[in-house]
Amino acid sequence: MSKITKTNSLEKVQEHLKAECFNKLFIGGQFVDPIDGQKIPTYYPATGEVFHALPKGNANDIGSAIIAAESAWLDGAWANMPASDRGDLISRMAQGIEENIEVLAEIEAADVGKPFRQAALVLGGAANEGKYWGSLGAVLDAEQDIPVNSGGGVGGLPPAEWDVVYRRDPIGIVGLISAWNYPLNVAFRKVAPALVAGNCAILKPSEIAGLSCMFLGKLAQDVGIPKGVFSVVTGDRETGAALVASPSVSMVSFTGSSMTGTKIMEASAPKLSQVALELGGKSAMVIFEDTDIERAVEATIKGCLTNGGQICTAHTRLIVQEGIKDHLLKKLKNAFEKIPYCRDPITERQRGDRAWENGITDVIQPVVSASQHEKIVNFLNEAKAAGIKIYTGGRVPDPSDVENLGGYFIQPTILTNVPRDSDAWQKEIFGPVLSVRSFSSEAEAVTEANSTAFGLASTVMSSDPAKAMRVANRIRAGAVFATSTGEGLLAEHPAVSRGGFGCSGVGRELGIGGLHEYTELKSVNYSGFSIAEAKENFNHG
Ligand code: NAD
Repeated sequence: MSKITKTNSLEKVQEHLKAECFNKLFIGGQFVDPIDGQKIPTYYPATGEVFHALPKGNANDIGSAIIAAESAWLDGAWANMPASDRGDLISRMAQGIEENIEVLAEIEAADVGKPFRQAALVLGGAANEGKYWGSLGAVLDAEQDIPVNSGGGVGGLPPAEWDVVYRRDPIGIVGLISAWNYPLNVAFRKVAPALVAGNCAILKPSEIAGLSCMFLGKLAQDVGIPKGVFSVVTGDRETGAALVASPSVSMVSFTGSSMTGTKIMEASAPKLSQVALELGGKSAMVIFEDTDIERAVEATIKGCLTNGGQICTAHTRLIVQEGIKDHLLKKLKNAFEKIPYCRDPITERQRGDRAWENGITDVIQPVVSASQHEKIVNFLNEAKAAGIKIYTGGRVPDPSDVENLGGYFIQPTILTNVPRDSDAWQKEIFGPVLSVRSFSSEAEAVTEANSTAFGLASTVMSSDPAKAMRVANRIRAGAVFATSTGEGLLAEHPAVSRGGFGCSGVGRELGIGGLHEYTELKSVNYSGFSIAEAKENFNHG
């Protein structure tokens, strides 16, 4: 058993990262060095080794990107071209992702510490989703000049001949700030609709793991997105804060923690600019005693350990009916203790995140960073001190269990005796930690599910469809899964909008509603001549 070194898997990733796009900012259609030349190191979570350094843009670099975006916005060519043409360019960017999945998945495996197989599967999803966004360009064109009123109306004094149509305009210059857990997916889910809608966009990926997002600059250049319409400025939270604070930025679309979401809302308030916030969660897995026990085990594992528990919709609260509690917990403990560690995510091509397909032969990846690791360890220590029972796991694995790699591993953990008002029940941990409570009645199950400030996703499992439906309808979350099998848990479809209730967010992503988030609805009120007359001469102005 040899220690992973730069001579094997990381070396290959470092070759990929020699490309210009992974070493420079993308501003005004060019790859440029950050003004003050600073860099941010990136670490391989499986070993803690530094393997790259990405440019650290500062407020001045953000200023350069804003100047480029203002110039593109004032030029107007981008906002005025048919959305279907913009959609075609986005579809070509999506194609570019598809053609480079192998490289991008190796980069994400190194950057996030996720198994290559999972990274490749999910990046395939980003490419498909990008094609969906591309196809919405034509839908947006068809939504322009939709008649909403004709020949007057009630209230006010409408003219005798009065034709009103709706249009959807782009918002202007938008700031896109993304998280690290699914780096390219999260970023492209913002970039694609923002651009299809006709905005000029500046992306600030996460400094913790944002390398794959930098490839979007190259794709934009390759497909011919006009200069200044799209920029990528890597950097830290101060870089993000400079983007949010700019008076020229009319909207910020953010994915990240609820704490940062609050700061972004505060910073946007003085200029009354728009925010779309995709934030944290503490999703509930409600399991009734009529559920098939093996299905319940598999779904619970998938729900809470996918991506090492580092997913906003991670089902980290198990709410189980009394009658099967002990049986389910024993089986879960057994399964958690058998899950092997993913020691080299870059080369992990067989396993990863598909507990459903592969039973409990899945792997548990390291968490993303030393600081996240420390945060989780402290959290577990505090939970123990507060009298919460560590049913299994609860600490860093023995070095020998992870081949002395020195990476950021945490044992998959189950906490029981968890009070409803404890941090273990209320706070997002973002690691492989499951907190358990039980219920006896349907009403109690709903109360437990709705007992945090979050509301991103939740699942109810039962073999009784009517009961599952009753409970699903009462759970307050943006996406609720009602299932007897667990199939489709955590699944997304580009046409199905998602977002958060409560502290989990503001606004919706995906679907036509997700595109509309990047537009302003405008009514144009015509009187004294017909719309047809106006259209006839439209292009002769
Ligand atoms: P984070 O809030 O620490 O950082 C996210 C991004 O915000 C980074 O790019 C960071 O540099 C930037 N940032 C930090 N402070 C800022 C500030 N004051 N102004 C502007 N930008 C700032 O979150 P994270 O650790 O990168 O991601 C994990 C979080 O993201 C979890 O809470 C998770 O639930 C959430 N998440 C939500 C979704 C969703 O769709 N709801 C998806 C993925 C992740």
